[in-house]
Amino acid sequence: MHENNEPKRNRRMPFYVSYGIALLIILLLNTFLFPALTRARIRSVDYGTFLTMLEEGKLSEVQLEEDEIYFLDKDGQLYQTNAIPQDYAIVERLSAAGVVFARVYERQSILGYIFLNWILPFLPLILLATWLSRSINKRMMNGGGGMNAMMFGGQSGAKQYVVEEGASVRFADVAGQDEAKESLQEIVGFLHDPKKYEKIGAKMPKGALLVGPPGTGKTLLARAVAGEAGVPFFSIAGSEFVEMFVGMGASKVRDLFRQAGEKAPCIVFIDEIDTIGKRRDSGRGMGGNDEREQTLNQLLTEMDGFDATKGVVILAATNRPETLDPALLRPGRFDRRVPVELPDLQGREAILRLHASKVRLGPDCDFNVVARMTPGASGAELANIVNEAALGAVRMGRDEVLQQDLQEAVDTILAGAQKKNTILSEHEKRVVAFHEVGHALVAALQTHSAPVQKITIVPRTSGALGFTMQVDEGERTLMTKEEMLDKIATLTGGRAAEEEAFGSVTTGASNDIEQATKLARSMVARYGMSEEFDMVALETVQNAYLGGDSSLACSEHTASAVDEKVVKIVKSCHEKARKLLSDNRAKLDEISGYLYEKETITGEEFMALLQKD
Ligand code: ADP
Ligand code: MG
Ligand code: ZN
Repeated sequence: MHENNEPKRNRRMPFYVSYGIALLIILLLNTFLFPALTRARIRSVDYGTFLTMLEEGKLSEVQLEEDEIYFLDKDGQLYQTNAIPQDYAIVERLSAAGVVFARVYERQSILGYIFLNWILPFLPLILLATWLSRSINKRMMNGGGGMNAMMFGGQSGAKQYVVEEGASVRFADVAGQDEAKESLQEIVGFLHDPKKYEKIGAKMPKGALLVGPPGTGKTLLARAVAGEAGVPFFSIAGSEFVEMFVGMGASKVRDLFRQAGEKAPCIVFIDEIDTIGKRRDSGRGMGGNDEREQTLNQLLTEMDGFDATKGVVILAATNRPETLDPALLRPGRFDRRVPVELPDLQGREAILRLHASKVRLGPDCDFNVVARMTPGASGAELANIVNEAALGAVRMGRDEVLQQDLQEAVDTILAGAQKKNTILSEHEKRVVAFHEVGHALVAALQTHSAPVQKITIVPRTSGALGFTMQVDEGERTLMTKEEMLDKIATLTGGRAAEEEAFGSVTTGASNDIEQATKLARSMVARYGMSEEFDMVALETVQNAYLGGDSSLACSEHTASAVDEKVVKIVKSCHEKARKLLSDNRAKLDEISGYLYEKETITGEEFMALLQKD
């Protein structure tokens, strides 16, 4: 995302310049002017001069101190001299001369001196600084946004969240996600005109919770809501509450809501709310949780205390909704849940197009192909693909992005960058070629497999020594049992080809094994695709948005039966793959040899070789 809400340039003098100037003035005053003034006012004389002046009748007023004498002459000039304590007669002599005893000079106490010379001059400075920091904060609140707010955000602990007014992001900047946008549109309408809703008595949900896998555009959507509604956007990440000192989290929440109240209508966005919103009973006994709990309690209190008609809408985002404290999801809090799912084929294409609109494209770019190559990719990954492609084009010395850049970017994002310095022996390279062609052949020889798009044996930084890419024609949402079995067979095809060609096996199939097992297990335990267990759920999914770990939900006895069944499925698929390859041994050898030479071949080349003669 390119942000273009540049902070307005500040025409005022930068604050450190004013500080500097003020400090310089004070130093000058202290060094030259004040002493000079004092010196000019008092003339120091010795005792003899004092006596002479007394003789000559020049004195008018006198002030006797313990160790000093201050006196005025007839012209009003102030003098000072050191007193001589032994001169007892001086008082009489002074009164005889008709000198008035008076207070002619107020000697400063040391505190007075400090105040006069070092504090008083600083007062204007302190005032200036206060005024400046207030105006900086105000600027931050009033649409400085971006960098500005970030830079000064740390100055006073209370203002660490970023405030954007009239954020530049709009719904148009979020591709796909139509359902989410629709459901947020209502909030936009409400923020536009809270009165309309108030009149009819409709209460807006206080909060909406955006849930979905990472990188699907939750944060982007929240900002777009603020942009569409044209209201201030208070954004803070859940983790920012917790990192603070004890007790700071709660006070930060209080402060956040106080400020939001002042700025209503506005949006408060708490990103990654799961960091503070975790179930309160989990992990009890750890001292560190107290802080988080306090913060969460404060958040709940604030949400309850809020008058919804005022126009403050609280948005939050999380990719672990199942860990949230149920109290957060109670009516009157985040009672609206907006799913932000991974994009489908259409959505992926739209996201690619949106991001590609910012780069210069060659004539052969086909985003539909790219979208079909990337099932399961998130918006963030797709944005990354476009950017990688642009970088690749630059690296190649081109001034526009071609389809081959996009293709390479997909490979890079999905399988890691090409690893130029991996040295494979001739034999290893041959094994990898057979392995990959094994996958491709098994896929092509079955009826329920997706067509092969590309086979490559160029090593990748992810550790893959090669891969076979299959691309479905359209978007798959449902998978039949037959398709799942064919997929497992395809996964075992690599190992099967090694066995077929070399009679021995390598470690290269570890990822295939993992995937095949996972598929077989979910067939049995989650999709009810085995006769033995019928439609019984034997597993529950833990966090659907982050990899979808599952945990067993059955007795130990059943669990071991499930294991047995899983082994059976994988084994029969493996045997099927083995059979397919041995029946097509000539093709396996031919295509593997070709791949060994070329290192990368397209789906068309592959099919042409397969269908030859
Ligand atoms: P999340 O908060 O869900 O993890 P983000 O909102 O931070 O994801 O998205 C990260 C980036 O991915 C965005 O800045 C944007 O560039 C891109 N992106 C994600 N989803 C979309 C989408 N639907 N449309 C356009 N860009 C998207
Ligand atoms: Mg986010
Ligand atoms: Zn493999």
